[in-house]
Amino acid sequence: MQENTGAGYPGDAGVTDDFDLAGVPDAFQRLWTPHRMAYIKGGQHQFKNENDCPFCVGPARSDEEALIVYRGKTCYVVLNLFPYNPGHLLVCPYRHVPDYTDLTVEETAEFAELTQTAMRVLRKVANPGGFNLGMNQGVVGGAGIAAHLHQHIVPRWGGDGNFFPIIAQTKAITQTLDEVRQQVADAWPGETDAE
Ligand SMILES: [Zn+2]
Repeated sequence: MQENTGAGYPGDAGVTDDFDLAGVPDAFQRLWTPHRMAYIKGGQHQFKNENDCPFCVGPARSDEEALIVYRGKTCYVVLNLFPYNPGHLLVCPYRHVPDYTDLTVEETAEFAELTQTAMRVLRKVANPGGFNLGMNQGVVGGAGIAAHLHQHIVPRWGGDGNFFPIIAQTKAITQTLDEVRQQVADAWPGETDAE
């Protein structure tokens, strides 16, 4: 799966989204809730290390601020700030590692488990017809934040590829990020829930 490599491609002087939160900027303009304005910095493509990496910084914030839906032991699940579709989730290890082969056995297991749970939760709350799952490895592989491994979980509905580029600029994504986060977080099975 390719990341959207529009205006937000790292190193591209045309970056328009510069929010220091999890996600990869893309070509779509969106409206933003005011509290996120606090995170505007020089552009998220400029992060140099763990201190600037959105996937490292996110967990230090509240779930609501960082759009986190679930925190596991070694990995966590976060809503993509630049979703291809509503409910576009990312599974990330807490550790700042770039490559899938960098994961420990324990991290690999939880990474996979959280991916499965994310699919189940999205099916429950949004009834998608399908999914795209994937990791872009390295900048040449299309990774927007190549330094910190993340798995995309993109719910798909019939026809979404046709209408989403049109409405993504307004309602479907911009006004519902917080609601989608809450919905997914609420539906996430607790420690005592049977799968
Ligand atoms: Zn990181």
